[in-house]
Amino acid sequence: MKPPFPVGISECLTGAQVRYDGKGKSEAYPFDVLKEVFSLTPVCPEVGIGLSVPRSPIRLVRTAIGTRAVGVFDKSQDVTDQLEAYGEQKRASLCGFIFMERSPSCGLNSTKVHNLDGGVAMGLVRGMFARTFVASHPYLPCVEAQALWDEENRNKYIKKVSIYSHWQEVINNGSTEEERLSFCTSYQSLITQELLPENPLKQLMLGLSDDSDRR
Ligand code: SF4
Repeated sequence: MKPPFPVGISECLTGAQVRYDGKGKSEAYPFDVLKEVFSLTPVCPEVGIGLSVPRSPIRLVRTAIGTRAVGVFDKSQDVTDQLEAYGEQKRASLCGFIFMERSPSCGLNSTKVHNLDGGVAMGLVRGMFARTFVASHPYLPCVEAQALWDEENRNKYIKKVSIYSHWQEVINNGSTEEERLSFCTSYQSLITQELLPENPLKQLMLGLSDDSDRR
């Protein structure tokens, strides 16, 4: 039977040879567990914007006009706008996304920013694709792959995805007021466990009051 929850994943994590060096990254990643519960949808933003495999590497650089994704060797190469636009594409069918850490495109909170002369400038930030993807899918459960090595984190993430999937069913499938109310009641306690952001529930409740106003 097909696993129930469609979840996007940085494609190199599946072992697909899409990295800049022509390799994949799947060695020893805990896929056996994830494949049982997630229907994984691979996405490689760098290939998605038309870059080749293999390709010249890119990195994040702090410039006078903000952080940019530019070539390590060819400093005139700038793919920031393409990666950001690719992240803005809506992927409404997904119930989660697993990102490759430290990537200038896919890193969620772990990507180094360099200064113009190539040194590491300051802190860890979000990759260019991840940045606009997360902004375009604000409540989608997103995680970096390395966090899922930990069993407790992994189980928590699986739970978040299943709750998000249920929430999508409730708001998208013509649910009755009783079904919405039941969802709100049953999931309210999960906010305090950080399994569900507060805003979706508020939205759902606002929807309920909008419905009531119309009657
Ligand atoms: S980290 Fe992202 S952009 Fe880089 S190879 Fe993997 S999927 Fe592609």
